[in-house]
Amino acid sequence: MRDCLFCQIAAKAVPATLVYEDADVVAFDDIQPQAPVHVLVVPRKHIPSLNDLAPGDEALAGKLLRVAASIARARGVDERGWRAVVNTNREGGQIVFHLHLHLLGGRPMFWPPG
Ligand code: 5GP
Ligand code: ZN
Repeated sequence: MRDCLFCQIAAKAVPATLVYEDADVVAFDDIQPQAPVHVLVVPRKHIPSLNDLAPGDEALAGKLLRVAASIARARGVDERGWRAVVNTNREGGQIVFHLHLHLLGGRPMFWPPG
């Protein structure tokens, strides 16, 4: 999608610090990190939010989790713990409407979240 920031990052039309990419998924450091490790894992396919997952997207959605776990391991936070967050729509705190999973780690996380 031409006007979508994360589509543009996935296409390398907008720069980002890429930490992983394959045919389906791209991961890059968040520009405004909320934890020592803050990586966004996004599908190359433009899916606006979790609300828009369609039949057939199951493998892609699952892959976001698996890639996040492997980046958590690579960044050395898998054993101590980390958090996966997918903000959805306005009350969920979503600002960029291209599905993305936040991988947060490197500090204690609290519950309930804000
Ligand atoms: P949301 O609130 O939609 O779940 O999260 C959007 C995230 O994208 C935020 O954490 C924000 O810091 C990040 N972000 C926004 N613009 C850019 C950008 O241009 N580059 C990168 N790397 N991250 C961005
Ligand atoms: Zn997009």
